[in-house]
Amino acid sequence: MPAELVCFQASCRASYPITEVIYTCPRCGGLLEVISREPLPDPAELRQLWRARRLSNSPLDQSGVWRYRELLAFLEDYSQVVSLGEGNTPVLEAPRAARWAGLDRLAFKHQGFNPTGSFKDNGMTCGVAQAIRLGMRRVACVSTGNTSASMAAYASAAGLQPIVFIPHGNIAFGKLAQALEYGAITFQVEANFDQILALVRVLAEQLGIYLLNSINPFRIEGQKTIMVELLDQRDWRVPDWIVLPGGNLGNTAAFGKGLRELLAAGLIPRLPRLAVIQAEGAAPFYELFRRGEGKLEAVRNPETLATAIRIGDPVSWPKALHEVRTTNGLVEKVSEQEIADAKAIIGQCGIGCEPASAATLAGIRKLRQSGVIAPGDDVVAVLTGHLLKDPDYIHRYHTSDLRTPSGQRLVSRYANPPRVVPCDPDKLAGLLEDLRSE
Ligand SMILES: *Cc1c(COP(=O)(O)O)cnc(C)c1O
Repeated sequence: MPAELVCFQASCRASYPITEVIYTCPRCGGLLEVISREPLPDPAELRQLWRARRLSNSPLDQSGVWRYRELLAFLEDYSQVVSLGEGNTPVLEAPRAARWAGLDRLAFKHQGFNPTGSFKDNGMTCGVAQAIRLGMRRVACVSTGNTSASMAAYASAAGLQPIVFIPHGNIAFGKLAQALEYGAITFQVEANFDQILALVRVLAEQLGIYLLNSINPFRIEGQKTIMVELLDQRDWRVPDWIVLPGGNLGNTAAFGKGLRELLAAGLIPRLPRLAVIQAEGAAPFYELFRRGEGKLEAVRNPETLATAIRIGDPVSWPKALHEVRTTNGLVEKVSEQEIADAKAIIGQCGIGCEPASAATLAGIRKLRQSGVIAPGDDVVAVLTGHLLKDPDYIHRYHTSDLRTPSGQRLVSRYANPPRVVPCDPDKLAGLLEDLRSE
């Protein structure tokens, strides 16, 4: 076996065949990770191979995930992989955002350029590949957001049946729309996220349905290539900081694992520091990091308009904590107002993102002001989702009607509302004249 499933818990480290259908360690209940035993070619050879694949027309080589398949050695046969052209996301310089945050320079790695508009695609192509290799015909997840959109797309593209469970109530419309359009069977259950997850785990086991929730270790494998692609795009120059939003913390776990593997393979000389940003109303990982010991204490009623990070009990926290510590990183939290301001600034750069992604820029500004990040530091922020995932938020912001979950009105500091004008050429000409300098 070139790869195994290994318990992440340092005190357990039990290992299981890669084809075992398990989501947590049967022995201790810990998280699982994929460990490859396959020796890698030397770094120069890998760099050259990965660069050469960019010129290839094979879908596997064109994928910004599977191009790096030497690091995804859990499959023996890649012929059944389904790619929608995931990854290949740009690194965008954003001088205006840099100035706003107090940095000389800032670049965004924009995962919203993925086929379904979020980084979930990087992981889902791997999760679905594993489902196919296991001979599964049906896949399921519990999600209100980007996971269901991504799973629906990849499962349908692969000819599998996607089943999405959504908690009653909280539905982000853009994302639900995607799940429906991509053909997911969608159940709205009158229960909260945790209750539904417990239910679905029992059902999945009984009915042979493969679970593609955030805990699935194969999704983490795909997401780790976001770091590989980033470093490849930077010709392997390591930034000082990589800043990302934290919800369920799967991405934090994935980025750390990816970076450690790059270091071990000799592809980078050192690790960048991971800075994880949470929303104030859903910041259990921030609290854990600040306390510096013990277990994560769940937030019972997480609240934030950044619905993608509205998570009170993040499953991947043990992995994420390990990665933040290994990279000498940190965790920060930001307010709803700070997220809204930062999001508008990212929009003004001509880039745009969904609210959760903007927590990065808000966090950078805060860390600049407290002197943790220096003006000349080399910083990359990962924008996790596309602007159009949440148009309602945007419209409310620009019409000064955005309220926090508790009903408090946010200040639309950078509002750009539509202007109602008469159908009168002279008046319009005058107005446009006045706006020349704006
Ligand atoms: C899923 C998601 C997050 C949170 O990522 P985790 O891995 O759960 O921490 C952040 N932003 C967007 C847009 C997402 O879809």
